[in-house]
Amino acid sequence: MAYEKLGKEIEKLIEDYRMSDEIRRELELTLDLIAESVGEKPKPETQLFRVKSSSKEDVYYTVVKGTTGKWTCDCPDYSYRKKECKHIKEAQEVD
Ligand SMILES: [Zn+2]
Repeated sequence: MAYEKLGKEIEKLIEDYRMSDEIRRELELTLDLIAESVGEKPKPETQLFRVKSSSKEDVYYTVVKGTTGKWTCDCPDYSYRKKECKHIKEAQEVD
């Protein structure tokens, strides 16, 4: 399928150029929108999870499960360590 090929190409670009997580997330979400608009839903699809911060009131983090199965989070912990944070683990439990 054309979309899957495009998705793989873009994933390769993301890896090659070590894009920031912000750009990666934007690209993954954009890919999702493209897939929707052409009536092709990739499997596995990008999934979004909202996870409440355990230390801060009224703070939620967005955990994204990408089309390649890679998990990212927009919390400071993940941004700094680039490793699975507690929000990702929480999202994985409900996935
Ligand atoms: Zn997190």
